[in-house]
Amino acid sequence: MQIMPNRMDRGFFRYQEEFETKALEVLRSGWYVLGKEVSAFEEEFAGYTGARYCVGLASGLDALWLAFRILGIGKGDEVIVQANTYIASVMGITINGATPVFVEPDDLYGIDVAKVAEAITPKTKAVLAVHLYGQPCDMGALSALCKERGIRLVEDCAQSHGACFDRKMTGTFGDIGCFSFYPSKNLGAFGDGGAIVTDDEKIARDMRMYRNYGSEKRYYNKVVGANSRLDELQAGLLRVRLSHLDELTKEKEKIAQRYLKELQSEYFELPKLRSHANHVWHQFVLRSPYRDELIEDLKAKGIGTIIHYPIPPHLSEAYGYLGFHKGDFPVTERFASQVVSIPMYNGMTDEEQEYVIRALNAFKPA
Ligand SMILES: *Cc1c(COP(=O)(O)O)cnc(C)c1O
Repeated sequence: MQIMPNRMDRGFFRYQEEFETKALEVLRSGWYVLGKEVSAFEEEFAGYTGARYCVGLASGLDALWLAFRILGIGKGDEVIVQANTYIASVMGITINGATPVFVEPDDLYGIDVAKVAEAITPKTKAVLAVHLYGQPCDMGALSALCKERGIRLVEDCAQSHGACFDRKMTGTFGDIGCFSFYPSKNLGAFGDGGAIVTDDEKIARDMRMYRNYGSEKRYYNKVVGANSRLDELQAGLLRVRLSHLDELTKEKEKIAQRYLKELQSEYFELPKLRSHANHVWHQFVLRSPYRDELIEDLKAKGIGTIIHYPIPPHLSEAYGYLGFHKGDFPVTERFASQVVSIPMYNGMTDEEQEYVIRALNAFKPA
């Protein structure tokens, strides 16, 4: 059997008719950028998250860097972020000239709130919490800390659509929640897409201005903005997917529960769950000191895996100029050398999962 780590085709074919009908409707409408599909999606996604406003953008990275830009965070300012994130989180900070201050994650891959408290300096302007793999960070403690210290809170929700902490959706705890709709995300488009959600009317208005060359009125440009517009086709297709997101999340939850119940081995660790939170299983991540051998073993059996992520941002070539070294963030570096994401996708069959479970339970390092 051949099993890929992800199967985006399954997510398309399940709702094929709805997607195709919407695509044709948009193509035939004669209007392709910032129109009624984008407005409708923004309203529906704001409603889904419980935020007052949503602004559609061209990508998750744009959501992040525009968020910090609009909050006025740049050169000379520090933003605290977990070291074990996808590099886009860090780029969102550095594109604005601000300095990322890395802290270690807790054992559930979320930002370690005690470490955040220790890292605050007079230059700290914001904390960026990344709900990695689909599990919320410890948002109760983190939002309390940020409020108390008068620091902005931004959330990277690129992997956490629909995930809640204390029944409140990720993206609505801080000043701005940043989302990506890259095709492989839990709420995926058929190309690039992103959005921010916020309760702050001014932030929403500024974001609408920034995404469109800094203009509110056509050809009257107030600020040096960006071209970061969600297009009508993606917005229309996202509306279709959003209408099924709860059932898609439930299906992933079911797959995850079976993995948690049936996987058993002394050679790898299963993901742990945070209390007061629900995990939406963007990835199902194992940790093993025998990770590389495990990957080869699965590969030989036709099972694909992915490492999220093999090189932490502080050790990447891109951030060499920050001057970090191996050993600076031992927890993050251990995770990078031990994590592996196993197949987890909507439309995964019982037989496919059975095959993956058997292969994993049978694994023995040499
Ligand atoms: C995917 C992702 C992003 C970037 O989103 P794009 O839409 O690809 O720009 C940012 N942060 C995290 C944690 C992600 O997983």
